[in-house]
Amino acid sequence: MAERRKFIAGNWKMHGLGSSVSEIGPIAAAADALDGVDVALCVPATLIHRAAKAAPTLSIGAQDCHQEDAGAHTGCISAAMLAEVGASLTIVGHSERRQDQHESDADIKAKAEAARAAGLSVILCCGETEAERDAGQAVSRVTDQIAASMPDGAAADWLTIAYEPIWAIGTGRVPGTDDVAEMHSAIRAKLRDLIGDEAEGIRILYGGSMNGGNAAELLAVGDVDGGLVGGASLSADKFVPIIEAAAKAS
Ligand code: PEP
Repeated sequence: MAERRKFIAGNWKMHGLGSSVSEIGPIAAAADALDGVDVALCVPATLIHRAAKAAPTLSIGAQDCHQEDAGAHTGCISAAMLAEVGASLTIVGHSERRQDQHESDADIKAKAEAARAAGLSVILCCGETEAERDAGQAVSRVTDQIAASMPDGAAADWLTIAYEPIWAIGTGRVPGTDDVAEMHSAIRAKLRDLIGDEAEGIRILYGGSMNGGNAAELLAVGDVDGGLVGGASLSADKFVPIIEAAAKAS
């Protein structure tokens, strides 16, 4: 089986002013000190340059990019612009953007391909609503999203999948480990269908209310290769224990 290093990525969402950059130094120091785990922090676009300068050894990411290189798209930011200010990766397809900005699977595929073309790695998010889970449609919903948003040329050296049940994001609720195992295994199987052997190296993160108290249990589940962390990534005090749990789990 392909070696997959654990990967912990923080998502600051629309949080953080210049004063928050002071949190990044201790996060980078922990990431540097620990073996067996990759760490990234996806900050607001306004902080990418400062974050990258403050922590040159840490991967700094964006939370979205536009699918075109340039054009009449007021307020949007291209992948090349993000790369120029110091991003090395970007999230695409977060459920908050699917919902708030009405992003489709086709948009997300195009964004992932644009990010790759600009030299960025990609964390592609998927996840079901609570109603879909209650209706027994969680696995089909998520694997359909993956099939429809899989970028051309998907490869393990730049693409990561993040499974984020929408009802678990920011709620303090977390699925049972059996449900997480079932979903991650189904995602791996779908990746195999889509891209063959390359699927073995692609990391599949769990996201949704991960914290220092539950990270070890979640990271021990088969096919869970790391975590995408929102609220608990905003401070070093809360984020570093998750990074430590991932280093121990590797
Ligand atoms: C997220 O939004 O990607 C996320 C996982 O948020 P939280 O950890 O706050 O649930």
